[in-house]
Amino acid sequence: MRTRVARKGQQTPEQEIAGQHFVSFCSNDYLGLASHPQVREAFKSAVDRYGLGSGGSHMVTGHCAAHQLLEEELADFMGRDRALLFSTGYMANVGIINALTDTGGLVLQDSLNHASLLDGGWLSKAESRRYPHNDMSVLQQMLSDSNASHHLIVSDGVFSMDGDLAPLPELIELARQHRAWLMIDDAHGIGCLGDSGRGIVEAFSSAGCDPTQADLPVLVGTLGKAFGSTGAFAVGDSEMIEYLIQFARPYIYSTAMPPAVAEATRTSLRLLREEPWRRARVQELVTRFRDRAAGLNLQLSHSTSPIQAVILGDVESAMRASRTLAQEGVHVSAIRPPTVPAGTSRLRITFSAAHTDAHLDRLINALERVSADVSSETQNLLRYRY
Ligand SMILES: *Cc1c(COP(=O)(O)O)cnc(C)c1O
Repeated sequence: MRTRVARKGQQTPEQEIAGQHFVSFCSNDYLGLASHPQVREAFKSAVDRYGLGSGGSHMVTGHCAAHQLLEEELADFMGRDRALLFSTGYMANVGIINALTDTGGLVLQDSLNHASLLDGGWLSKAESRRYPHNDMSVLQQMLSDSNASHHLIVSDGVFSMDGDLAPLPELIELARQHRAWLMIDDAHGIGCLGDSGRGIVEAFSSAGCDPTQADLPVLVGTLGKAFGSTGAFAVGDSEMIEYLIQFARPYIYSTAMPPAVAEATRTSLRLLREEPWRRARVQELVTRFRDRAAGLNLQLSHSTSPIQAVILGDVESAMRASRTLAQEGVHVSAIRPPTVPAGTSRLRITFSAAHTDAHLDRLINALERVSADVSSETQNLLRYRY
């Protein structure tokens, strides 16, 4: 059974949970902005100006100057015509997939896509199919074999449980060849990847890939991760965004996020743009973690992003490893099916710019104990399977 634990205090790496002190490696607050003093100040002063609730949906009375400004600044940051705010990433994904597809269409999804994308597909009137993780030849075959009236290819940018990237240049090429729409959900990439933090669209720029709005008509980002806030956005050309305003039902029929949240998120965005050292710090932690974990005989996921998975196989091994870490005062969640495929239960470790070198040392020391528990036979088996 899944359980919840109530945390006290702010979202920072050092936390008190049920009276015990932990260093946490499971938050998505990658850049350490959730509790940043300037973000908190911006929120407080905006609450004084706007009050708490937005009072309605964006189409009625909920759309405030703060939302408008945040949309304009997000569009500018991402180099796109327009941005559209959603109250959550889940709603953005369900809304966009449903708006872009209809009866007779086909939604093609990576098998490891986030649940909100998969649900968006199942809830749509179009047919949904999944291709094996990052397998472009199967995707190509599915597109060639299909006689659907329209196609939407959907992928995570950074995969949320492994931390690896979607093959963006190949996805763009396949979408172009087959005249399919392409939608990327870069919830974990935006803010973290690329020199300026534009995420997966920037991560492939050294390979000469700099997707235009036509190459990648819909790009989704969430505000609850690197931005340290809550909510989500889509960016695209003016026509696409106008279309979503008219047809994305979770956008139309839901209360706009509190304007003070939008205002505080503008400060997050400014920090995210002006302080590239935060991204560099996360990358440094990831590199050092991988170097040191390599000596521990543990199977890591193939990831250079802030999401690092230690694959342990069966559910019980992952749960036991998480408990071992907890005894050492290190909080890392065990992730098991159905969130990940059977046989790939794991520890999911995420790094934040707010982690210190001493935090990393504690994690490595605690993982040494986990590694001692896992027989080398099991490790070899996992290496072979993963
Ligand atoms: C977290 C996440 C979402 C959901 O975003 P919320 O704003 O938390 O609803 C969607 N897609 C991916 C890939 C995510 O990691």
